[in-house]
Amino acid sequence: MARPKAPSKPKPFRFTSVSGKRRIAKNIRSKTTPNQCSFVFLNPSKWSTKPPKGWSSPETWKPCLDTLLTTTQGVCLACGDETEEPDNCECSLEAFRAKDAQWKKLFELKEVEGMGVGVFAKQRIGPRTVVGEYTGVLNPPGHLYDYGEVGYHVEVPLGPSIFSEVFGTVDATYEGSFVRFVNHSCNAKANLVTGRVGRTRVSAIMMKGNRAVKAGEELTVNYGPVYFQGKYCYCGYRRCKYPDPNT
Ligand SMILES: [Zn+2]
Ligand SMILES: [Zn+2]
Repeated sequence: MARPKAPSKPKPFRFTSVSGKRRIAKNIRSKTTPNQCSFVFLNPSKWSTKPPKGWSSPETWKPCLDTLLTTTQGVCLACGDETEEPDNCECSLEAFRAKDAQWKKLFELKEVEGMGVGVFAKQRIGPRTVVGEYTGVLNPPGHLYDYGEVGYHVEVPLGPSIFSEVFGTVDATYEGSFVRFVNHSCNAKANLVTGRVGRTRVSAIMMKGNRAVKAGEELTVNYGPVYFQGKYCYCGYRRCKYPDPNT
């Protein structure tokens, strides 16, 4: 695995505002500028040298990407293999990420009135298509977010077992891929999935088996009930699960 490092030349995300202007995307609470990053990396100094509670992997605890994310379990998001054999497939994570880096051919970022920035398809995206990897910095269990900026991360099991009870988060607050902008809908056409590419665990957004998005349509996922504790949803779907009773 290539040695990870944060991008040297920060490259922000640009979106089209409601009034048609091109703007640089900012985080909602901290007003900081997220940068484009097509891989997962970690900062070893943020990790304890002692294993976290619940760590039962045969691998000795070592806070490095190899120990935390190497796996042969789960479906390969590049080829669809799910045999869970040690040498099940040889799909290349680099090739998978190189394809992701071309995201602007298929998607664009646009402001959605009252919802911030969203991801829109430029052409039809069919069922079961892997839209893109959720990338960023891998944080240890119990990480606290600056400014309470909790809207830009996903949980990921750590260690080789897909049934691991120890979770870290892939945090795209400051560095990440365009999928960090995918909004919630109670009628979402895509899912957030945990799988692998070759022998590396990967979180990604994937179209549902029976749904497609048309050119010009917004791509959405379901953030799940935990995200909506104490919050209302304004997705507009007639069977919205978390509606604001005052609207
Ligand atoms: Zn594969
Ligand atoms: Zn809703």
